Amino acid sequence: MKILLNKNDLNEALYGVSNLGFVPTMGSLHEGHMSLIKKSMKECKKTLVSIFINPTQFNNKIDFKNYPKSHKRDLSILKKLNVDFVFVPKNNDIYNYKRTKKIKLSKKDKIMCAKYRKGHFEGVIDVMDRLTKIIKPKKIFMGEKDFQQLYLVKNFIEKNYKSRIVPCKTIRDKNKLALSSRNILLNKNELSIARQLSKTVYSIKKKLNKIDDKKKFLLKNKKEIKKIYNTSIEYLELRNINNLQMTNNIKKSKLFIAYYLNKIRLIDNF
Ligand code: AMP
Repeated sequence: MKILLNKNDLNEALYGVSNLGFVPTMGSLHEGHMSLIKKSMKECKKTLVSIFINPTQFNNKIDFKNYPKSHKRDLSILKKLNVDFVFVPKNNDIYNYKRTKKIKLSKKDKIMCAKYRKGHFEGVIDVMDRLTKIIKPKKIFMGEKDFQQLYLVKNFIEKNYKSRIVPCKTIRDKNKLALSSRNILLNKNELSIARQLSKTVYSIKKKLNKIDDKKKFLLKNKKEIKKIYNTSIEYLELRNINNLQMTNNIKKSKLFIAYYLNKIRLIDNF
């Protein structure tokens, strides 16, 4: 496993490498990340994993400061998996030039996390643009756990590069809770609530099949979840997976949720 600490290391190591799979991460690796990496190793000749906590995608300074870090553990996981390259850039390896064209979301995309985390996806798209430009992967592996991110990045990258985005299934624990680096920030009680809440949202999605007015049903459930689990929910919405517009049709839809447990913001979709 080659650890690449800057852009020069990267250019040297990738010289002549084609059929490269790329897995972008912010570290604190878990089974979710590992599933992406394994898929890349299966589909591509070489695999590069990046670990970079991208400052521009945090709309909240405290959230950025508190984002979990476990560098040594991450490297040992990646070594065990026998990954070819790990790219751990510094800020100025990535942000060494000013964009000529500002990244802007269209009005119809300013929904869900884009509505509640101002500037977040602009930061994500910016960093993915910069990483794709220097890594030039054949495929980029991304999780459906962050479905809106996957949707927006796929639209941007596939329009501007030859690289293709490969969506990967959400990995969950046995209680249906999606694995997330942020779960480590939850205390025992919060973790237990997150698990119960995940099961509840999963069962709501299953019930939706038989409900006529899905919007009304979701509004009622949103209120109930808030009351039972004492959480604040930003959204609980059924949306079409191809355009992320609200829908009353269960076909090709996902139920999206964002909520807070104490100060920790969690998202999921079923
Ligand atoms: P992150 O390190 O949180 O930025 O995530 C890096 C990549 O891993 C993103 O493409 C995420 O969607 C993906 N990912 C995070 N959690 C999971 C999960 N539980 N299952 C599958 N993919 C995940």
